[in-house]
Amino acid sequence: MKASQFFIATQKEAPADAEVVSHQLMMRAGMIKRLGAGIYNYMPMGLRVIRKVEAIIREEMGRAGAVEMLMPVVQPAELWQETGRFDKMGPELMRVKDRHGRDFIIQPTSEEVVTDVARQELRSYKQLPKNFYHIQTKFRDERRPRFGIMRGREFTMKDAYSFDRNPAAAAKSYETMFAAYKRIFDRFGLQYRAVAADTGAIGGDLSHEFQVIADTGEDAIVYCPTSDYAANIELAEAVALSSERGAATQALTKTATPGKSTCADVAVLLDLPLAQTVKSLVMATDEVNDKGDIVGSTVWLLLLRGDHDMNEVKVGKVEGLKGGFRFATLGEIEDHFGCKPGYLGPIGLKKPVKVIADRTVANMADFVCGANEPDFHLTGVNWGRDLPEPDLVADIRNVVAGDPSPDGQGVLAIQRGIEVGHVFYLGTKYSKAMNATFLDETGKPAHFEMGCYGIGVTRILGAAIEQAHDARGIVWPDAIAPFTVAICPIGYDRSADVKAAADALHDELQAAGIDVMLDDRGERPGAMFADWELIGVPHRVVLSDRGLKEGQLEYQGRRDAAATKVPTGEVAAFVK
Ligand code: ATP
Ligand code: MG
Ligand code: MG
Ligand code: MG
Repeated sequence: MKASQFFIATQKEAPADAEVVSHQLMMRAGMIKRLGAGIYNYMPMGLRVIRKVEAIIREEMGRAGAVEMLMPVVQPAELWQETGRFDKMGPELMRVKDRHGRDFIIQPTSEEVVTDVARQELRSYKQLPKNFYHIQTKFRDERRPRFGIMRGREFTMKDAYSFDRNPAAAAKSYETMFAAYKRIFDRFGLQYRAVAADTGAIGGDLSHEFQVIADTGEDAIVYCPTSDYAANIELAEAVALSSERGAATQALTKTATPGKSTCADVAVLLDLPLAQTVKSLVMATDEVNDKGDIVGSTVWLLLLRGDHDMNEVKVGKVEGLKGGFRFATLGEIEDHFGCKPGYLGPIGLKKPVKVIADRTVANMADFVCGANEPDFHLTGVNWGRDLPEPDLVADIRNVVAGDPSPDGQGVLAIQRGIEVGHVFYLGTKYSKAMNATFLDETGKPAHFEMGCYGIGVTRILGAAIEQAHDARGIVWPDAIAPFTVAICPIGYDRSADVKAAADALHDELQAAGIDVMLDDRGERPGAMFADWELIGVPHRVVLSDRGLKEGQLEYQGRRDAAATKVPTGEVAAFVK
C-alpha cells in the first residue's frame, strides 16, 4: 500500500470531548470520525484495525467449531415480545416503526433471532452441539455514550450462541468458548484477565468477563495475585456479603436508628437474602430541616436484576424502618424526586453512600442520602448539577484491597478493567420463552441449553490503545496494527535511487506477506515520522541516499528509543 493512494488524516489536536487517551489518539490518528453522540465513521485507517481484529476472531471461532452467519440489524418486535424483552428492556433498546406502523428493534444483541433460527433448523439431538455466530452492527442507546468507540451507541460485536442437548454438553460448549477467548485475547497481544461474573437469575457459575487491564477502565476487578481467583467487583461484593462481612453488616440492623437505615434493615424488612438486597440498590432519602436535623426518611429500594437482560429497575418504597414494603408508582417517584426514575448505581455498606445517578434522576439537593451505616449519610446530594463523577474504585465498599481471598490463597488486589468480552451460560431461558425444542434421544421434545458469547470488536481498539500508547501516539500490538511496517524514504520525490530502493523494498515485503505501507507523499522526515508514530505502526524503516551508499537502512521499532542500522536486504527479518 502506498500512502498517496490511501487516506491519511492525522490531526495535531484532539477534540475537547475526548476524555480518555484512546479516544484522543484515535481521533488524532484519523481512525474514526464522529457523526453523532456515540456514532462514528470508521475511517480507512481505523477500519484496517477492525478487520484485523475480526480476522483473528473468525479464525479462532472457526477453530473452536463455531459457524458464521449473519443476522439482521433490524428485527421484528414479535420475537422480542415472545421473550418479553420488547417491553422489559429499558430505553437502551432502540425501537422503530416501519411505514405500516409495525414495531421493530435495532438489535443490541441477537438471542431472539438465533433462537428462532434454531427452533426451525435444529430438529434433532443429532444436529447438536451447534454454535452460530455473527459479527454485526449493534445499537444500544447508551445512557452515556463516551470514550469514543469504547462506549458507542452503534458498535460492532461478535456474538455467538451455542445450542446443546443438556447442561453438561452446554458446559462443554462454554469451556470451548472460554478457551477460544483466551486464544483470541492472547493473539491480540493484550494484557487481560478473565474474571468470574454474576449469573443473575440464571444461577450457576458459568459467566466470565474478559477485562483488559487499564486504569481508565469503567469496571473494577478483584483478584488474588497468588492464586487464580478473579471476579468482577459486583460478584466479589455479593460473595463477601454473604460471608463474614455480611454477618457483620447484618449486626448493624440491631443498632440502626430511624433515619439511618441500612441495607440489612431492608433485607430484614423484605425477608430477602442480604446479598440479593445489596445487589439491588438501596437508597435512603432523608428530609432535613434548616438546622440539618433529619425530620423524616424514606428508604428506596431499586431491585436490579443482574441477569443478561438489560437492567430491570423497579423502584420501591419502604415506609419507615418498621413499615411494610411496596413498589411505588411512577407518579409517586416523580413526585418525590421531582423527576423520572432512572438508573442509580450500586450502593454499598461501609462508606458514605454515593449515588451514581442518571443526571435526570438525582435532583435531591434537599435530601440527605444513603444510609447504610449510622452516621454515614451523605448530605447535599445533587448529582444532577454539581457533584463530580464518583471514583468507581474508591467507591468500592465491601471488598477492599488486602482482604483475604475467598479461596484462602492470599489477599485481594483491585484494579480497573475494560470489559471486552463476556461469556454466559443461558440455560433454557430463551428456549423456554420461545418454545425452542429439538427431539432428544427418546424422541421427545426438549428445550435447548444455550450459551451466549460476546466480544466488543470496536471496543478492542480503544482498550488496546489505553493499554499501549506513549507521548507520541498509539503503540499497536503487531497483530492488530493497521500496517505492520512503514517505509519512510527521505527524498522519495527527489532521488531516483531512494525511490527505486523504497519501491523495491515495498514490493519485497508485500510479496513476503508483510502488511507494508510506503510513505510516498514526499513529506519532511519529521512530519512523516510523527504521523506513523501517532498512528502507531510497530516497525519503521528509513531509506536515504546517504544510507543507501553505505548499503544500509535505518530500522526502528515503535517502542525503541533509537534507530538501528541494518544492511539493505536484511529488513524482512526485523519486521517479521
Ligand atoms: P458494559 O458493561 O460495558 O455496558 P455489557 O455488559 O452491557 O457492557 P454485553 O451485553 O456483555 O455488554 O456485550 C458483549 C460485549 O459487547 C461487551 O463485553 C463489550 O465488549 C461490548 N459492548 C457492550 N456495550 C458496548 C458499547 N456501548 N460500545 C462498544 N462495545 C460495547
Ligand atoms: Mg451495557
Ligand atoms: Mg457489563
Ligand atoms: Mg457484559
